[in-house]
Amino acid sequence: MKAIAVKPMQKNSLQLIDLPRPEINDNEVLLKVLYVGVDGTDREINEGIYGTAPEGSDYLVIGHECLALVEEVGSNVQNFKKGDLVVPTVRRPCPENCFNCRNFESDMCLTGNYLEHGIYKLNGFASEFAVSDADYLVKVPKELRDVAVLLEPLSIAEKAVYQSYKIQERMIWDPKKAVVLGIGPLGLLIAFLLRLKGLDTYVIGRDPSDSLRVTIAKEVGAIYVNTRETPLSTIGKFDMVFEATGSVSLALEAIDMLNHNAVFCLLGIYREVKECGNFGNVLTELVLRNRVIFGSVNANKRHFEMGLEHIFEIEDRWNNVLNRLITRELKPEQFAEALKKYPEDIKTVIRFQSSP
Ligand SMILES: [Zn+2]
Repeated sequence: MKAIAVKPMQKNSLQLIDLPRPEINDNEVLLKVLYVGVDGTDREINEGIYGTAPEGSDYLVIGHECLALVEEVGSNVQNFKKGDLVVPTVRRPCPENCFNCRNFESDMCLTGNYLEHGIYKLNGFASEFAVSDADYLVKVPKELRDVAVLLEPLSIAEKAVYQSYKIQERMIWDPKKAVVLGIGPLGLLIAFLLRLKGLDTYVIGRDPSDSLRVTIAKEVGAIYVNTRETPLSTIGKFDMVFEATGSVSLALEAIDMLNHNAVFCLLGIYREVKECGNFGNVLTELVLRNRVIFGSVNANKRHFEMGLEHIFEIEDRWNNVLNRLITRELKPEQFAEALKKYPEDIKTVIRFQSSP
């Protein structure tokens, strides 16, 4: 079968390889992959920044955003049958099976030794057939076949928004204004969730105002601010801030945008080395204004299930807007093209079955 794989830690090693169709054990499900979404993690794996092959293999099959049909189930698998539409979650428990992992919260793993499909020690889903443990599959209604490949990135947005609200249960709280830094797929998905909650939602980016991403942000009722034209310091204070660009400078600037009692969720990987002028002042302001800054990574099955409910609401309210986030659909042979980034791209997907 066709599979898109890298030789881990080797720059630009991505290639289409031929692998035998995988075997499943009693607790696993064989997936017939329909779509795999591409994101920054896949690009960084191809840049050789991280990625680890399964034990005994030279290759890591990439792909962690997936929509698939169940092809075959192991003898212990009760809840799935051939033909079910499913999305697999990404992370699997650490070998130590820590407290959080054994309670189905591997996104909050205590040891950091968790496994991840398509990233760390487990093959991903960018292949004609793939394998997942049945416990980590989310069943998807058939009518979501065109958009459910977005469920994995949506699960990241769900966790960020859910945890922000959960943390704020520390007090009485009535948020009015939220801002999302970043207008990529994750930023837009967070903005959709915030608009569903009725918040005045600002989205920050560097796109020209006629770009598709800006058009979509405005269609869901968000206010777009282009940082090339408008300094962040002029748009007021916010009760919720979501940082999805990975820019240290922007994240530091955004701390000043926090209202009293506000919550700030960081979602990027901050590689830039940056001095922070007066960090004491930042800390003092956290105290005096009861601010919270927290990080959020990955998502567990519950967040995928929350996402499923919201997909219906999002599609109903904004006329199939999710479909418009998928701006390119390519074949497995076009893997190199799939990883390229064009200004008008939102989400690129690879289709693994020739019939839609
Ligand atoms: Zn763990």
